[in-house]
Amino acid sequence: MQLIFERSREGRRCALLPTSDVDIKEIPAEFLRAQAPKLPMVSEIDLSRHYTELEKQVHGVNDGFYPLGSCTMKYNPQVNNEMAGLPGFANIHPLQDEASVQGALELLHTTKEYLCEITGMDEMTFQTSAGAHGEFGGVLMIKAYHESRGDHHRKKIMIPDAAHGTNPATATMAGFTVVTIPSDENGHVDLEKLRAEVGPDTAGLMLTNPNTLGLFDPNILEITKIIHDAGGLCYYDGANINPIMGVVRPGDMGFDVIHLNLHKSFSTPHGGGGPGSGPVGCKNILAPFLPKYNVVKEGDKYRFDNSEQSIGMMKGFYGNFLVNVRALSYLMTLGAEGPKQVAENATLNANYMMEKLAHKFDVAYPGICMHEFVVTMNRVKRETGVNALDMAKGMLDYGIHPPTMYFPILVGEALMFEPTETESKETMDEAIEIYLELYDKAYSDPEYLKNAPYNTPIKRPDEVGAARNPKVRYIFPEN
Ligand SMILES: *Cc1c(COP(=O)(O)O)cnc(C)c1O
Repeated sequence: MQLIFERSREGRRCALLPTSDVDIKEIPAEFLRAQAPKLPMVSEIDLSRHYTELEKQVHGVNDGFYPLGSCTMKYNPQVNNEMAGLPGFANIHPLQDEASVQGALELLHTTKEYLCEITGMDEMTFQTSAGAHGEFGGVLMIKAYHESRGDHHRKKIMIPDAAHGTNPATATMAGFTVVTIPSDENGHVDLEKLRAEVGPDTAGLMLTNPNTLGLFDPNILEITKIIHDAGGLCYYDGANINPIMGVVRPGDMGFDVIHLNLHKSFSTPHGGGGPGSGPVGCKNILAPFLPKYNVVKEGDKYRFDNSEQSIGMMKGFYGNFLVNVRALSYLMTLGAEGPKQVAENATLNANYMMEKLAHKFDVAYPGICMHEFVVTMNRVKRETGVNALDMAKGMLDYGIHPPTMYFPILVGEALMFEPTETESKETMDEAIEIYLELYDKAYSDPEYLKNAPYNTPIKRPDEVGAARNPKVRYIFPEN
C-alpha cells in the first residue's frame, strides 16, 4: 500500500479555508520557518481512500473477537461516546475558573463517589492518564507518607512475580528497590517467602488481584496484614477491576491506594494510542498526598482541593476529562446492580472458554479463573515444534485477534485469553472451534502453522528489529 506522501501530487487540495474576517497580523520573521513544511497534497477522494484502506488493515473490537489478555478489549457502548461529545463537556477549557465549570466538577465528584463505592476507597483524583501513570502517582504517595513520618529507611517494595510489568518499573522509577515474591504451585503469592522478605525496611506491596494468571488470591487478607504489621502500605493495581466489581472491594481486602484503568474497564477503548485515564484512589490516611487536583464538595459548590502535602501535578491540568464522562455515563447506565453483572459475565465467559479449550490445550493453572486464563504451549511445542507465536499467527487468517502471547513471563509459551463480558456464547463458540482446529493442525500439518498467516497484509515482521530500529519518519526521495 502507498504512503500518503507517495500519493501526494503538487497542487492537489481537499480543503478550502474561508477568507479571514479579522486583520492578518504579521508573525515576526524569527518565528517563521525558512521553508514551507512538506505536507502531502491530495484530493479528498484520495485522502478518504487512503484512510479507509488503512482502516481495513487493522483489527478492532468492531471487526471481530479480540481476547487480548490483560487488556480488556471489550465493546464500549456508543452512547457513552455520545455523552462525551456533548458540547457542554467537549467545549469547556481547562483555564476556565471553577465557578464557570461547576457541572464538570460535579461530574468528576460523582464519578469519584461511584468509583470509591466500587473500590472501597475514600478519595480519588483523575489527573493521571494511564494505568502506569496512576501506579507512579500511587507509589509516590506511599513514599510521601513514609517521609512525612520521618520514616526514611523504608526502601523496599514487594511485588509478586505474576505482576504486570509496569509494577516493578513503577516502583523502580519511584526510587524503591523491588523484591520479587515468587508464586506457589497454585499461582498464588507464596506466603512464607513473603514473610521472609518483609521487615522494617518494607515500604509496601504492589499487587493485582486477580493476578495476571487470572487467579484470585484467597490469602489476600493475610498478605495485606503481613505488610501492615511491618508498617508498610498496600498498593492495588486495579487495571482489570471488571471481574470483581460489585463483588469484592480492594479497600476491604486491605489496600490503601489503588489505580483504575478507565480506558479498560469503564468504556473507553484501550489501545490505539488514544487518551486514557488512570485515576488514583486511596484511604483517608493517604488522601493529603493525592496528586492535584482532588474535587471536593462544600455545601452545594464544588472546588479543587489544594492540599499542601499533595505530591503535586503529574500532568497538565485535570487529566483526560472526557474519558471520565464516558465512565460516569457507563456507570449510570449500569445502575447499582450492573457492575456485579459485568463481573459475573466476565468471569463466566473466561471459565466457559477455559473449560472448552482444556480438552486439548494445557491450562497453566487449572481451577476456576477470573476474567482471564493462561494456556501453555510447552507440550505442543515439544511434540510438534509449533509454538505460541505460530498458534497466534494461525488465528489471524480466521479474522480474530490472537490472545496475549508470552505473558505472564512465569509461564512458558504462554497464550493468555480474556474474552471479556461483552462477547456472546456464539462468538466464543466460533473462536473455540477455530482454536481446537488449529490445535489439531499443529499435529497433522505443523508446517502450515509455521508459515501462517496467509491472508494478512503483514505476515511475520521482524519484531525485535521494528522495536530497536523503528522507522517512524518518511524520507523524501532526492530530486
Ligand atoms: C494494562 C495494565 C496496566 C497498565 O495500564 P496502562 O494504561 O497501559 O499504562 C497495569 N497493570 C495491569 C494489571 C494492566 O493490565
